[in-house]
Amino acid sequence: MGIRRTYIRTLAEKVLHKHQPRGLPIDPTRIAEAYGIEVKVEDVDDEDISGFLLRESKLRKTIIGANARHHENRQRFTIAHELGHYLLHKGESVHLDERKPGFMLQLRDANSSTGESINEREANLFAAELLMPARLLEKDLRGKKFDLLGDDFFLRKLAKGYGVSVQALTIRLENLGYVLD
Ligand SMILES: [Zn+2]
Repeated sequence: MGIRRTYIRTLAEKVLHKHQPRGLPIDPTRIAEAYGIEVKVEDVDDEDISGFLLRESKLRKTIIGANARHHENRQRFTIAHELGHYLLHKGESVHLDERKPGFMLQLRDANSSTGESINEREANLFAAELLMPARLLEKDLRGKKFDLLGDDFFLRKLAKGYGVSVQALTIRLENLGYVLD
């Protein structure tokens, strides 16, 4: 069982079209708020906790949390990731995201096929599609030679424009099939 790549890209494009038709960087907080979600960025005394999604069905309230101790780019990715869970994985009332050993590997590879891992990969893919839309990247990279890893300045500038880390951008470009080395 794989992850729903096409569905997730289409979903992210619809969400962007409706809530942020232009302009970078994408504002995941504003988009989440448009769904009636309350976004809280709070100091969490545990570096390994990146965020959570809480669905209070009785109060009809949904809260996304992100760790204020993390870099702003990471907070943005976390908020987009939790929004991905909200839109893709119904039914779960509390979802906590912790950094586990090998978490960054999970962003990349398809080794594990447990349900939890698929949900995480889907939420990560949604976050990547939301914050780094393929269509916009394609425009930015048009005419650019694909020895991007050698062009640190360009990568940093691009990452800054999208409000993401160079690492997240690099993974995204690799997944989109841009050759980086
Ligand atoms: Zn998650």
